[in-house]
Amino acid sequence: MATFVPGLTPPADCAAVLTFIVSPAGDLLVVSSEPLRLPGPGPLSAAPGSAATGSVFLGRLGDTACFAQWGPEVAPAGTEYRNLREVLLRLDEPLGPLAGRARQVLEWDRDHRYCGRCGTRMQDKGDERARVCPACAHLCFPRISPAIIVGITRGDRILLCRNRRFAGVMYSIVAGFVDVGETLEQTVEREVAEEVGLRVRNIRYFGSQSWPFPSGLMLGFTAEAEPGDIRVDGDEIVEADWYTAANLPTIPRPGSISRCIIDSLLGRG
Ligand SMILES: [Zn+2]
Repeated sequence: MATFVPGLTPPADCAAVLTFIVSPAGDLLVVSSEPLRLPGPGPLSAAPGSAATGSVFLGRLGDTACFAQWGPEVAPAGTEYRNLREVLLRLDEPLGPLAGRARQVLEWDRDHRYCGRCGTRMQDKGDERARVCPACAHLCFPRISPAIIVGITRGDRILLCRNRRFAGVMYSIVAGFVDVGETLEQTVEREVAEEVGLRVRNIRYFGSQSWPFPSGLMLGFTAEAEPGDIRVDGDEIVEADWYTAANLPTIPRPGSISRCIIDSLLGRG
């Protein structure tokens, strides 16, 4: 499939339109049959490209112009809303990440219509994805919240924990948001200490994944545990232990950065 090229103004020469329609709750509209796919092009409810219309141009995918648009509360016949977490990992590249981008841009668009400093209606900056206040020049870019996720090993074992918020009995690796003023390495050390009571060494960058719930960027790391016992915080993390490839519990689905880190550390691909 073609490479996505972000943009601000719909080009005149696009042959097709692809619209990512997001429900008021943040779910993505898809066709009600397998395989998972987006509904075909339909008439846009208003001219795209500004906060007033609720439809935002994202960029182009080959000769297809991509838009994001808020959908109605109830999905039209033949379609349904699906949780974006599921869709993000199941749609082929680059559609999955584009769906995440669509939701983040729409939410930013909706939440930055008025200046947070003086209350004046904001204007599109024009030359980049940003809003500027005509009264006080306050400038707002889409906000991205960095979070770390770290796979910790001890020998051939990996630390997996069960978070209170996880549905069912899913186990994953330690994760948490970067605090104001922290380096990423400090966040790794703090989150690991807080959640499982361990100290770590050899913190190494692994890779990243956009995580639009609502505006996260997951920065993946690996690290080795220093000697010491696991002490779960009992609040966010209710259970944690060391696992090998031979005795894994239920882990996150393929495609997520947590799963990539787990598989990589256990030599599973
Ligand atoms: Zn202002």
